[in-house]
Amino acid sequence: MKSTINRIAFKVYPRAERSIRSRHPWVFEESIKKQNKEGIAGDIAVIFDNKKNAFLACGLYDPDSFIRIKLLVFDSSEQINEDWFTENLNLALEKRKELLSPQQNSFRWIYGESDNFPHLVLDVYGDSLVIKIYSLIWEPYLEAIIKSINACLKIDLIVVRLARKIAQKSAYKDGQIIQGNSDNAVVQFLENGLHFETNLISGHKTGYFLDQRANRKLIESYASNKKVLDVFSYTGGFAVHALKGGASKVLALDISNKALQTAERNAKINGFEDRLETITGDAFKVMLDLKKRNLLFDIIVVDPPSFAKQVSEIAPAKERYKELISLTIPLVEKNGMVLLASCSSRISAEEFYEICFEKLNSCQRSYHIISQNSHDIDHPISIPESAYLKALFIEFTDP
Ligand code: SAH
Repeated sequence: MKSTINRIAFKVYPRAERSIRSRHPWVFEESIKKQNKEGIAGDIAVIFDNKKNAFLACGLYDPDSFIRIKLLVFDSSEQINEDWFTENLNLALEKRKELLSPQQNSFRWIYGESDNFPHLVLDVYGDSLVIKIYSLIWEPYLEAIIKSINACLKIDLIVVRLARKIAQKSAYKDGQIIQGNSDNAVVQFLENGLHFETNLISGHKTGYFLDQRANRKLIESYASNKKVLDVFSYTGGFAVHALKGGASKVLALDISNKALQTAERNAKINGFEDRLETITGDAFKVMLDLKKRNLLFDIIVVDPPSFAKQVSEIAPAKERYKELISLTIPLVEKNGMVLLASCSSRISAEEFYEICFEKLNSCQRSYHIISQNSHDIDHPISIPESAYLKALFIEFTDP
């Protein structure tokens, strides 16, 4: 660990004190009443209460962010060091134990705030691991965290991925291999007994979307003899599960030809390539075209990228969801099913479902909800801000 880490003492306004007592891990810039010195990203921030000057919480200082302090410890002052990292990594591992089996070796080990590592994600793919850093506060501790990772699990390859907003200031390069050797960081892993391959350097986020694991299994369970359309397929996570479930045909659609080539490889390594077709293009245009060709599907999965990452994008994002749902419904076969997903963190589950119901209720078809789903258990939700994935699974009940 870098020896230059300072400790800074803080007092915050009463409202923030209440938020800290309820264990919310964010202290905003405007909540800070005073601090005894300036600091740099990763310095230890210790917050004392206003009445008794007693210890309230401890976290990491982030001068570059309006979430000025990210809290790690609430009960009593603890040293943030390799032992602390190992203890918390083990705690998180324990929570995910049921996901691990000879059929499954991919999981989100650390989901930021929910696992006491705010703004940090660790995803495991077999014996490879991606550290995704969303705040510079973690950089002084990275070597210690890597030692702790190796103390808990047998990991060969470690790749660092950086959130765009910190890439300029980071001491690391996005996609930098910091442990092990690999020419291209293409790795293989198992999800629900299926083989997948992904590129940890150039792939979206950490290379794959582990959050949809349970929803993919759900689609697999309904796919027998069905014609399936997987819109925004990426590397074919849903498509390959549908094929495993016995789908007669799966059409995977994505704007990225490279992603679809990986989807094809993923179908092939599981022996399903003869039932997969892919189509490269803009989903909004291709779906219209599929309708013109009178093509219908028994199951459609619509899992778009985030449309609203900031407040200003909320209104246009809602319009895009409406348009997508309007394009989807006419492509669903009589008594068919649809999984509508949203990972836009700025759009709440209530708002998303309202949009879905508005469109479903005006389409002149009867339906029922099979389930409303969220992330799988390796993405635990400890604060409302951590809940980003919603998925509505619908079955039409046409006469
Ligand atoms: N369903 C995937 C994850 C989807 S990620 C899974 O289960 O893993 C979102 C995907 O949408 C990306 O692959 C991206 O290339 C694709 N995409 C983004 N905009 C698109 C558009 N307009 N039309 C089609 N695909 C698009």
